[in-house]
Order: sequence, then C-alpha cells, then structure tokens
Amino acid sequence: MRLRFWGTRGSIAVPGPDTVRYGGNTSCVEVVSNDVLIILDCGTGVRGLGLDLMANRKPPIEAHILLSHTHWDHIQGFPFFPPALAPGNRITVYSARGYEKPLKEVLEGQMDYTYFPIKLAQMASDINFREVDEETFDIGHVQVTSHFMNHTVLAMGYKLFSGGKTIVYATDTEPFGTYHTDGTTGGSAVRPQFVHEGDVRFIHFIEGADVLIHDAQYTEQEYPKKVGWGHSTVDYAVEVALAAKVGHLVLFHHDVIRTDDQVAQLEEYARNKVAERGSSLIVTAAAEGTEIDLEERDEMRIHRRLSSPAPATRRYKLLFADDDPSTIRLLQESFSDEHLYDVHVAPDGIKAVEMASELKPDLVLLDMRLSLLDGYSATKEIRHQAQLKHTPVLIITDHSSEEIEAEGFKIGVTDFMRKPFAIAQLRARVQMWLHRQDQPNNATSILA
Ligand SMILES: [Zn+2]
Ligand SMILES: [Zn+2]
Repeated sequence: MRLRFWGTRGSIAVPGPDTVRYGGNTSCVEVVSNDVLIILDCGTGVRGLGLDLMANRKPPIEAHILLSHTHWDHIQGFPFFPPALAPGNRITVYSARGYEKPLKEVLEGQMDYTYFPIKLAQMASDINFREVDEETFDIGHVQVTSHFMNHTVLAMGYKLFSGGKTIVYATDTEPFGTYHTDGTTGGSAVRPQFVHEGDVRFIHFIEGADVLIHDAQYTEQEYPKKVGWGHSTVDYAVEVALAAKVGHLVLFHHDVIRTDDQVAQLEEYARNKVAERGSSLIVTAAAEGTEIDLEERDEMRIHRRLSSPAPATRRYKLLFADDDPSTIRLLQESFSDEHLYDVHVAPDGIKAVEMASELKPDLVLLDMRLSLLDGYSATKEIRHQAQLKHTPVLIITDHSSEEIEAEGFKIGVTDFMRKPFAIAQLRARVQMWLHRQDQPNNATSILA
C-alpha cells in the first residue's frame, strides 16, 4: 500500500507563506494498493488528487471515498473532484450510518444551487453511497474495518488491511476518558493507564498498525479549553500509538493557527517523548505531498468476504433519568426525532430501575447524583436483571476521576459523559452505543 497526503489541516484551508511545508488544504489522504484506490476524506486536498488521477491514471477511474464524517473540512472538496465529473468513472462514498439525513442528501446539500453551480445529479460519473456501522467489509482485496471515533457527530475511523500491512485513519476524535500522563520531563517512563472502555477499545482497534494517522490538533496546554470539541492532543496520539505498539505515527488534522515552524516543533516534541520512553515508534507530522510506502506480501492478501449486511434503521427506546427538569427537557429536545427515538424519563433512581425492568430500553442514561438511588447503585440494580445485562448504561457526571470511572466500569457502567458536554457530542455517543447494539458479536463491554 502506498499512501500520499493531499490535505492535512482541520477546520478550513489555510494557504499562505506559513503553511508551505505541511500544507494548507483540509483532510485528504490517498491510499493505493495495486488496482484499488481508496480516498480518506474529501477535504480541499482532494482537488489536487483528482487532477493527478485524471492526468496519470488510465480511465475509467474507480475510487472509494471513506468519509470520517460530514463536517465541512472533510467533504468540501467533493464538488471539485474532477473524476466525479467525468462519465465512465465510478465513485463510491462511504460514511457512518445515522446522520439526520442520508449521506447522499448531505452531499447534495452542499451542492444546492445556492452554494454551487453544479448539482450532484449533474456529475457525470456513476456515484454510489454506502452507510456503514462498526463492521468489516472488503474493497477489492483490501479489508476495511470501521470504528466509532469520539467526535461531536458520529465519526468513523478506518483500518485498511492488505498484504499483511495495516493503515489506520483516526481523525476528529478525542480521548474518551481521563488518563495519567507522565506530565513531567526528565525521562520519567510512567505509562498511562487507560481505564475508559472507549480508549481501551480504540487501542485494541489500532493494535499493531504499521501506520496510524491520528488527530493531533491540540497541545496539552490548549486542550483543557477544548474538551468536547472532538480533537486530540499530540500527547494522546503518542500515548495510544505507544500502547498499541504502532510502527509509524502520523500527526494529522493540524490546527489552522499552527505555522510550519510550530508544526515542526510539535513533531519534535512528540519524537522526544517517544525517545524518553525508549520506543522505536516513528513519528512524523503529516505534510502535503509526502508519501509512505508499505511493501505488501501477496500471500497475505485476504480474499474472504466478511461484510455483514447493514441492519435496517429501527426506532430506539431510550430511558433518561435525572431529577433536574431542565436537563430532562434538554435531553428530550435533543432526541425529539420521533421516528428514531422513543424517549422515556424517570425522575429518580428507584423509578429508573423500575422503568428499566418494565420497558427493556435500548439504552439508559443516568445522572450520577440521582435522588433516592444514585447512578452507580441504579446501575448495579439494572445489571442484576438478566435481560438488561448488555443494555448500554451511560452516566452523566459533573466531576469524575479515573478511580471513580474505573469503579463504574467494574460495576457495569458502559460509558461516561462528563459535564460540560455539547449536546451534539452526547447524541453522537448515544448513537454509537445504539449502533453497536445492532451489530452481532459486538458485546457492550469488552471488559466484562
Ligand atoms: Zn475536521
Ligand atoms: Zn469534525
């Protein structure tokens, strides 16, 4: 597999003298394995890639575009992707299932006449759409596994496996839980303990990757003000790469405020951190135009088809328990799409347990400080019932620590939402757990 970076920024394109070395275009990475062409995100960088394909690839062009999500910096280049405009070419676009609109409508939206002169329907290539859950599917001989990221909307990370080599694309994601860092300099080799199941699952997902392209938008100093924005620190990217014994970490989705010199400093910082740990992990900051070549072994190509059919969309039964009426109102409004959600509310912990056993909801969301029975006690009661053993139970908390969360995971809490959080983030997290429930062989807890 050969990969090439065409766009490395987050948020918005920032061309100019300060972004010459690492690039000013938004997210786009090309991956080629023999005749298979995969494009990771369609930020503004995809225009350059499209021109290159038109000039150098024998038509017809068949491209598979894996979108991490549909925020602008990941789709804005699509209308400017020349191969999509040429007849005979075949483009398949993938994204997570479960946005407010089908993927096709999302892409049509940005090409409405108000914003753009050509409609999606007028693009002459054959364009297809596929919405995915956490699953494994094949694109030619390349095996693709999708995994939910922790972002402000449903976002997917993708693992590409071919000929014994693995590339993971994980952008627009932030730590799920708190974790120790060594924090200090001076060569302290303290390894962080990841206790949050989201982080544990993610590390499992990226385990042993030859190349990990990871969100590294913030520094540790910036992050406290950006919690809940759905992006990682350079430190987190390094820590998960070390924990998962990755070969090569590529820092990605550079912040728009970062000049070339500043990106270079972050790269240097990450390399020092790796050196302090005595690890051989290679670290580079993604730069437009750079390529990474991974030599595949033909005998390790997989020709099996592992795809599971996408489950039909169904209506989910949700149970919310909080004694604060204003929070309940906010939650109800946030999940008001009636065709998707059937929302029930409980005013206290005892009632929550009663309603859970009666309703058998698809997901339970409890406030930590519920009256009559707190969040943990209610979770224990819920887990005592055989039919609720695997129901996702999410806890909302306003102060938390690794120890408190570790204890929660032990008694059967599925996930935590720490206040303050954006409603969009809560929605994405709830959707993630509901969709995981729909996947066979995807038990709620890998720690259980
Ligand atoms: Zn982004
Ligand atoms: Zn985003």
